[in-house]
Amino acid sequence: MSDLRQIIVDSLSSYSADDKDLQETVQNLVEEEGEEVYPTLLNILTHLEFDAHDAKVNWQQILAHRDLLQTKLDRQVKLITAVCDYFCEIAQTLQTPTMIELKVLEETKKYSRSDGLTGLFNRRFFDEALEGEMNRAQRYDGSFSIIFFDLDNFKKLNDTYGHQAGDLTLKQVAEILILEKRTEDLACRYGGEELVLILPETKKINALVIAERIRQKVEELELTFDGKSFNVTLSGGVASFPTDAKDAKSLLQASDVALYQAKESGRNRIFLHSIDKRHYIRMDFTKDVQVKKVEQESEQITVQGKNFSNSGLLIESPVPIEIGAQVKIEHTDQSLGKPVIIKAQVVRVEKFDSHYDIGVSFLEIKDIEGNEIAQALVKNLGISTNQLPQKK
Ligand code: GH3
Ligand code: MG
Ligand code: MG
Repeated sequence: MSDLRQIIVDSLSSYSADDKDLQETVQNLVEEEGEEVYPTLLNILTHLEFDAHDAKVNWQQILAHRDLLQTKLDRQVKLITAVCDYFCEIAQTLQTPTMIELKVLEETKKYSRSDGLTGLFNRRFFDEALEGEMNRAQRYDGSFSIIFFDLDNFKKLNDTYGHQAGDLTLKQVAEILILEKRTEDLACRYGGEELVLILPETKKINALVIAERIRQKVEELELTFDGKSFNVTLSGGVASFPTDAKDAKSLLQASDVALYQAKESGRNRIFLHSIDKRHYIRMDFTKDVQVKKVEQESEQITVQGKNFSNSGLLIESPVPIEIGAQVKIEHTDQSLGKPVIIKAQVVRVEKFDSHYDIGVSFLEIKDIEGNEIAQALVKNLGISTNQLPQKK
């Protein structure tokens, strides 16, 4: 359940006879969240769907109707009574409403939204939540991400350790998702061993950090069933609105494509959906560069550059750097007379026998004039300077 819905449900369960606290809560919520509060409130009270404008008008008419009833009856009239009378007698939208305690109804709905085995939200809820998040992001010019996870070689795990061991695995992986996600993120079981996280107001890089953390925790998970110990891994695909897709269906497809690539490239890894590969041109850059983590500038390592594109650089490092870390990359070219400094963020780490391949995504390129990489990008790739990440 979204936070907004929960807050309204809580205040409906505890409002006083004169409804003052409820009205105040609604007013405060409208100030904080906007007029989306009205349709949510009326949906909780009546299960009717309104757009924000109609819901607001109806809410004001309900309050006026309640005042009228109080005057006529010469006693206090509870809001819920006024709501019922208004929709049955005035607006005539309801014909035969039924009565059920709000808490009982919300509890019933909770079960219809969740998956019995894992306790995560089910597919039906996921479809609605994704549409909801998409509408919200579109309306407020926001961004959000989704991560599509799929357990690796799960069929084999079932075949080797039995279906119950498989069930236990799913439950424990779901627990990791619940522990590692933030409160506002929604964890859903999309299908058999496919789990999806919806991350409101989250940029791709932050979604990647969360996905990578979950991947690691799952890899480290020690499972035991029927006296036998075993492990499991998962793969994930990340896609974000608005960069990768503009509607819910395409966003899900984009994350699925990235997941497929993660599986293809060997499993137990997270892949970001990348936009049109045709524009993703790579150029060789086999030079020494110095890398410092922004948090620990005293520790500097020399790494070997491999290649770069308009969005990032691939380096070969003797040591790993964690995904999400912000780094400063320095390259001193004698002919330029001063070092080129690029601020970037680690988005990919791949372990090889003798080194780590580390992919960084440019955050900011200082000083385009004296920047060899930027100049090469502009000259050779035909990229205009305003397409490069600019100094903030
Ligand atoms: P891949 O790494 O390519 O994803 O391989 P996979 O074996 O995981 O993929 P596949 O889709 O072929 O198999 C998924 C398996 O997950 C098949 C099914 O038996 C199992 N599965 C689906 N739902 C459940 C469930 O609720 N419990 C158990 N124990 N197994 C399930
Ligand atoms: Mg699958
Ligand atoms: Mg699978």
